[in-house]
Amino acid sequence: MTPQQVLSQFQATGVQTCFHGRHIEPQIYAGLDGTNWRLKDYEARDGYKALRKILSEGLTQDQVIATVKESALRGRGGAGFPTGLKWSFMPRQFPGQKYLVCNSDEGEPGTCKDRDILQYNPHIVIEGMIIAAFAMGISVGYNYIHGEIFDTYDRFEEALEEARAAGYLGNNIMGSTFSFQLHAAHGFGAYICGEETALLESLEGKKGQPRFKPPFPASFGLYGKPTTINNTETFAAVPWIIRNGGQAYLECGKPNNGGTKIFSVSGDVEMPGNYEIPLGTPFSKLLELAGGVRGGKKLKAVIPGGSSSPVLPADIMMSCTMDYDSIAKAGSMLGSGALIVMDETRDMVESLLRLSYFYMHESCGQCTPCREGTGWLWRVVDRIQNGHGRQADIDLLNSVADNIQGRTICALGDAAAMPVRAMIKHFRHEFEAKIQKATVTS
Ligand code: SF4
Repeated sequence: MTPQQVLSQFQATGVQTCFHGRHIEPQIYAGLDGTNWRLKDYEARDGYKALRKILSEGLTQDQVIATVKESALRGRGGAGFPTGLKWSFMPRQFPGQKYLVCNSDEGEPGTCKDRDILQYNPHIVIEGMIIAAFAMGISVGYNYIHGEIFDTYDRFEEALEEARAAGYLGNNIMGSTFSFQLHAAHGFGAYICGEETALLESLEGKKGQPRFKPPFPASFGLYGKPTTINNTETFAAVPWIIRNGGQAYLECGKPNNGGTKIFSVSGDVEMPGNYEIPLGTPFSKLLELAGGVRGGKKLKAVIPGGSSSPVLPADIMMSCTMDYDSIAKAGSMLGSGALIVMDETRDMVESLLRLSYFYMHESCGQCTPCREGTGWLWRVVDRIQNGHGRQADIDLLNSVADNIQGRTICALGDAAAMPVRAMIKHFRHEFEAKIQKATVTS
């Protein structure tokens, strides 16, 4: 089977798919019409066949993990860590309770893919989690769903009920000796709760603040027990991989970047929305799918992986393919796959002002460089934008960013610092022009 045949089969199954009104490439959500999310519909799309295959053919935990490793599936939440490798870190012989957690606390500005997966295809996440639990010998799991999406939470709860009633969840799944209890947990809407250790704190009923790492969740996670945390889209990829094999999934993408990925495209495009494309697709193709730059304007820049990823100018972005390695080589991150497209009219200082405000607002305040530094970043960008910039302000911004990055408990500090450095690196002249204007008029 050629990669193209595999890919068309992959898309035709409606697996790992999402639906976002009319703004999506029809091939991607083949099989989904926005209403057919129920168990019977999912079963008609080969749903729960992967689980059935594991249990009826007697696949071992090692075989399942090996298949996921072979697929080169990487975490779809932002970090891009190899999923099979992460699963192999779970101490399978651990005598006490272990937990599986799905991170559906999607809060990165620009990202809206997990919400759609849960809304239009919730059983695919449930099946992926059951398979993961089997592979790691885990008996209890939670899906932590972002606090501001009430309908999605309710729908996931309904899907859980259906899966339990059908014998896919609970004790002795499908007559086997394998048991897994899965629950939905509603978050509280804080951006920081998407950070995995803050999520665990929140799930335990505490204030959602990140923990120091190490220890990592694989050894000290939920309630201090070994825990594996994966993103919603990551779990959604698993059933197809088990049904079709790791190699087939790998061939849908490119080496080290297996499979397809859902990209949330927003900003200055004609058709913003979620687009599922093979990893390794040229950025120009994705832009074309989204209808191109709005109003026929010229592309100026793209934030390729959610607001925390460094901005890339148009010429660099147009030479990139959409995969982890290509975007990293260009100096940014694929992150959660949220592309914010900016046309030629965008004011980069103003854009940075909004980003800086966001991170200042969302800092949990635990560590000084982040708590104080994000406020400094916002105040300095604010004065540049509002005509009070000083000659030394660009160096000051770089210095503050330097003193945040790598010196904080969690990655929010880096997320606040990196956009500042990238904006200055690529669009320094816009900052200088505003400062120059302020100097002349003062
Ligand atoms: Fe909190 Fe910021 Fe420190 Fe993260 S980096 S723990 S958000 S203060």
